[in-house]
Amino acid sequence: MAKHTTKMICPKCGAEMNHHADKLVDPVRPEDLRQVNPALGGIVEETHCCPSCGAVESRRAG
Ligand SMILES: [Zn+2]
Repeated sequence: MAKHTTKMICPKCGAEMNHHADKLVDPVRPEDLRQVNPALGGIVEETHCCPSCGAVESRRAG
């Protein structure tokens, strides 16, 4: 599956964020179904946290 390789940039302070965790979320909208990872049965969402200001952001993998 496609993975993001670039670091997320903190929207608050511009620092590079650390990839903190992955979580699995259920698809809730019809368009979400296209993002479902068939091996995992859900959508993989990456959580990133900022080491500078502590902001937390998430984005969908793939
Ligand atoms: Zn920050």
